[in-house]
Amino acid sequence: MRIVTSGQMKKIEENALHYALSYERMMENAGSAAAAAIRRRADISGRYITIFCGRGNNGGDGFVAARRLYESGANVAVILTDGAPKTGQAAVMLERIGDMDIAVVAYGEDQPYLTQRLAETDILIDAIYGTGFHGELDERHRDICRLINGVDTETYALDIPSGVNADTGWADECAVRADATVVFDSDKPATAMPAAADWCGEVIVADIGIPPEAHEGIERQFTLVDAAYVFGRLPRRRRDTHKGDYGKLLNVAGSQQYMGAAVLSTLAAMRTGAGYVTLASTKEVCRTVLPLLPEAVMRPLRQNPDGSLSWQAMDELRSAMERATAILIGNGLGTGEDAVRIVSEVLKTASCPVVVDADGINALARNINILKRARCDVILTPHLAELSRLTTLPVEQLKADVLTAGRALACEYGVTVVLKGAYTLTAGPDGRVWINTTGNAGLAKAGSGDVLAGIIGALTAQGHNAPEAAACGVWLHGLAGDYAADSHSQYAMLARDVIDALPLVFADH
Ligand code: ATP
Ligand code: MG
Repeated sequence: MRIVTSGQMKKIEENALHYALSYERMMENAGSAAAAAIRRRADISGRYITIFCGRGNNGGDGFVAARRLYESGANVAVILTDGAPKTGQAAVMLERIGDMDIAVVAYGEDQPYLTQRLAETDILIDAIYGTGFHGELDERHRDICRLINGVDTETYALDIPSGVNADTGWADECAVRADATVVFDSDKPATAMPAAADWCGEVIVADIGIPPEAHEGIERQFTLVDAAYVFGRLPRRRRDTHKGDYGKLLNVAGSQQYMGAAVLSTLAAMRTGAGYVTLASTKEVCRTVLPLLPEAVMRPLRQNPDGSLSWQAMDELRSAMERATAILIGNGLGTGEDAVRIVSEVLKTASCPVVVDADGINALARNINILKRARCDVILTPHLAELSRLTTLPVEQLKADVLTAGRALACEYGVTVVLKGAYTLTAGPDGRVWINTTGNAGLAKAGSGDVLAGIIGALTAQGHNAPEAAACGVWLHGLAGDYAADSHSQYAMLARDVIDALPLVFADH
């Protein structure tokens, strides 16, 4: 799947001008392609189609679609939501429907007509705002979108549903909810994000005649992760290798209160191909969990009276760090002063990649500038609440648009950020983004985050570059979660079932 941002799409259209494709021709192709897509899905002859057109080029696409659908026998009406078109090519397209039997009505001018028309409408088309939309809808446009959403009939959006930000997936509370969205030339980030499916509905990518050459030099910022992507990156296990070739993960995890986090993250890492996994934890944790982790190396360290890792353990931890090819820190570590100091010290001194999860993130939230002192690749795996602590942004804001905040964090500190949630996104230090589609609500259960951290830790220890390891780990974790849900149900599955499903995921591919 090819995903381009709205800014890149502009550039691609500009490039297309060099291939004898005018803006007018692209608009003609877009509107025609949209009409064709609708015709393929529905018999439109004699049906009432109402098209809401804005002032920009999206409206222009709408005028073309109006003409094409009319030519195919539909009864078409156009509602101008913002008056006369403001671009030359859109004005031309409006002119072309002038002598056809298509009603063209300005929104707000003839309310009784609009009410009557909408009551008769079989198919609605939203061509108000295209991918250029950003910011919030104003009250007037909210009213229009409410009106559209209030009509119980098949609704198509051209380009992107109005009120949805094409690059971030953020949607205004009143954004148009389409049954299908016809996107032109390439998917946009929002149309590729499963989280935006509530607004986009089915996504139909329509060719508008832009030659492949117009895409040259456009660097992909968004990647949809799939099996081919992941298994194209995981190295095959070569026969002439030994365990030292598959990395050494040092997992700094666990405390008296959270032993399970240490077990789950370590076990998940061992199930993801790492040559060695060492669990560095308190003496008590190591002793207790040993029977569950016979393949792991135990590194029992000094502990505080409350059963958490002691700062006194730092020297020993340092020597363990020297041998590691990646470090995972934070799962079940607790939030005491010593844990915070240890996390800071590890980040400041590590020379191999460090994956920071859970209490590691909470520690970092106390002084995020530590990240600026890290000399190693860093992967953070926050859920929304953890991201909120890190960025000091309210959870509500992050819920609406996690990508903007996550990307800013990744770029500012030069780290990879895994934005965990129902639809996890991964942001790399250079602003690239990976979109994940695996996983299910059975993962919404304590412990599944620890499993993900172990998986990413193991991939990183094996030498994968940080953002790719993170993106692949998220996909594998989600798929293992899907397998676990198949066999155990979303309701009953446990984090350990996700680990148990990892062998099947790898065996199947
Ligand atoms: P905590 O960190 O709060 O102690 P935890 O580590 O088990 O708990 P998270 O860190 O939030 O939980 O990780 C949960 C994992 O499950 C993440 O990878 C997340 O993407 C995934 N997940 C949670 N809910 C869903 C959902 N509804 N659909 C798909 N994946 C989900
Ligand atoms: Mg967690």
